[in-house]
Amino acid sequence: LKEKFKGIGDEVVSTKDGRKILVTANVGSEDDLNVAVKNGCDGVGLFRLEFYYINRATPPSMEELASLFTKFVKKLGNKPLTIRLLDVGGDKEVPYLQFPKEDNPFLGVRGIRYLLKHPEILEEQVKAILMASKETGGNIRIMAPMISRLEEITKLKEILKELSEDNSANIKLGIMAEVPSVVFMIEKIVKEVDFISIGTNDLTQYIFATDRTNENVSYLYDDMHPAVLRAISEISNKAQKAGVEVDVCGELASNPLAVPILVGLGINELSVSPTRIPLVKWIVKSISYEEAFQLAKEALNSDNGEEVREKARAFFRKKL
Ligand code: PEP
Ligand code: MG
Repeated sequence: LKEKFKGIGDEVVSTKDGRKILVTANVGSEDDLNVAVKNGCDGVGLFRLEFYYINRATPPSMEELASLFTKFVKKLGNKPLTIRLLDVGGDKEVPYLQFPKEDNPFLGVRGIRYLLKHPEILEEQVKAILMASKETGGNIRIMAPMISRLEEITKLKEILKELSEDNSANIKLGIMAEVPSVVFMIEKIVKEVDFISIGTNDLTQYIFATDRTNENVSYLYDDMHPAVLRAISEISNKAQKAGVEVDVCGELASNPLAVPILVGLGINELSVSPTRIPLVKWIVKSISYEEAFQLAKEALNSDNGEEVREKARAFFRKKL
């Protein structure tokens, strides 16, 4: 089996009935990017910046960030580079950045909330992205983490507009859908953004009210549970209707059992661990959207994650 998907190279893959699915990579460093490119990624669906902020005494300068982004764009050629704005807070503290003392950091100043409170940190990133875009003419997308309100998107768009001169038009803006309020407001949110990327790691944590790092409640954390799949389905349906691209960049997209379900739910792009790219591409090529759609329907009507996994296993036994 392994041999079968080893042969898959750079090609963009489609299901047997012709539905194109981009398979991009989650990267956090240049090493990750190298593996992703070697494995034939269709771009980067999630570039986590956190690594470039920790283990140092001051934040990276605008120039450092710009040259980092430029290097990444060049390695990717024309393929998209989705840069997620710094996602600190929660369990990711950076010693030289100021965080308030909080009883529930995962419900506190995290992601976009931190950035809007510290515009200087946000602006350095945005300026660096604009600079790299100008220099390379590359395909860069900006993605905002932990959005929970429309107003945060409005504010971010204002900042983007203020900082960009003439070259803003080719930079797409998207948000991570990882807070449940986004699911319920998605119809309005899709009017404000170019793409949506579902962060199933946090979305699962917040849907089940289970700290993703707390082993005492890990039995309640299940990203294949119908509660999570129904949230994905709602986002995907409303995004499709509005003509907005919808991606999944949480760990769920790297889980082979979940791939046909996500395809069946209408997801356009799966952003996965660099080493999983050939396997995910091979699965996409081996199934039809039609049968994936049927499986997704069954999954949505299941009682729990175990039942979903059982149905997905049966699907693989029958199809592959
Ligand atoms: C997520 O929440 O699913 C996600 C991709 O972001 P992170 O794991 O970095 O919080
Ligand atoms: Mg997240």
